Amino acid sequence: MINIVSPFLPPIEDYNNYISGIWKRNWLTNNGPLVNELELQLKSYLQVDNIQYVTNGTIALQLAIKALNLSGEIITTPFSYIATTSSIVWEGCDPIFADIDPQTFNIDPSSISNKITKKTTAIIATHVYGNPCDIEAIQRIADQHNLKVIYDGAHSFGVKYKGESIFKFGDISTASFHATKLYHTTEGGAIFTKSGEILSKISYLKNFGHHGAERFIEPGINGKNSEFHAAMGLCNLKYVDEILRKRKLDYNYYSKNLSSLGLQFQQINQDSEYNYSYFPILFRTEQELIKVMNSLACDEIYTRRYFYPTLDKAEYLATVDDIPVAEDIAKRVLCLPLYYSLSIEEIDLVISSIKNATR
Ligand SMILES: *Cc1c(COP(=O)(O)O)cnc(C)c1O
Repeated sequence: MINIVSPFLPPIEDYNNYISGIWKRNWLTNNGPLVNELELQLKSYLQVDNIQYVTNGTIALQLAIKALNLSGEIITTPFSYIATTSSIVWEGCDPIFADIDPQTFNIDPSSISNKITKKTTAIIATHVYGNPCDIEAIQRIADQHNLKVIYDGAHSFGVKYKGESIFKFGDISTASFHATKLYHTTEGGAIFTKSGEILSKISYLKNFGHHGAERFIEPGINGKNSEFHAAMGLCNLKYVDEILRKRKLDYNYYSKNLSSLGLQFQQINQDSEYNYSYFPILFRTEQELIKVMNSLACDEIYTRRYFYPTLDKAEYLATVDDIPVAEDIAKRVLCLPLYYSLSIEEIDLVISSIKNATR
């Protein structure tokens, strides 16, 4: 059986060493030494100026919206994971969906411009499958209309744009360190911002709004993460370069061996160093996708329609948006298995199964 994802696990001895330390110190959470160490190591690995390690990537998005004090309408992508949209709604704002680019699968800047109203306060864009958005065009629109920009970088660990960490862009960038992501801390997430003011705000918002022991200056939330999660993060960070190297080989192997089928792949931003976090393929029709998916399942290969349906279909949203490209891509896209423990024999099985089904 081959699954769509399989979490990376470090050698158990590595983890046990950290756990013994937790037992000795009897310090389990609340900004402990391992959380501090992880923040330092991530800062240095990612070459960013600061980082706030939080509970997960969804809380990271919610804290970002809260810290920027957003209200009204937020223009966002319909082609992402549901957390991108639900965070907006959870924070009392209205998601307005712009269409996506048919090649990169990222939010289309010209469509953003068309959706701006007097109520628009921000743009929340996802670097889809880790592929950097059209950052300059998005920033130009934001500057013209005085909008904030948040990047959902849940897929973008290790990605660089023009030689710099992808997390340095926008007013705030977020990451997810969930078990199924390329780099993980079991559950976890992070927030990145250039602004010292936003940074300090997030540091108290994620800690109940504490300002010292006896002052509470704003309603906060519990967005802290534990020593156990940080321990997993510290273990996994040692393997990240190896994980990236192996994914690149597998990704290139898939594209080389599937190229003869004439199917479309995602166009990766030319100015980036990519992390090969997903291998999406675009079929010619939804029927072809379903046929291949079923045929793979017969061979016990379980793929996922990631992302389907488009996020405007969430049942709590009333809006009907005009997003024909996103609708079309969502119907035809399938992500293939891609993870560290996947063997070349298994990849060959996936490839031959797809070839059989599309013949
Ligand atoms: C995984 C994911 C999230 C949520 O992250 P969690 O850490 O699971 O809360 C948000 N956005 C996107 C695009 C994701 O893939």
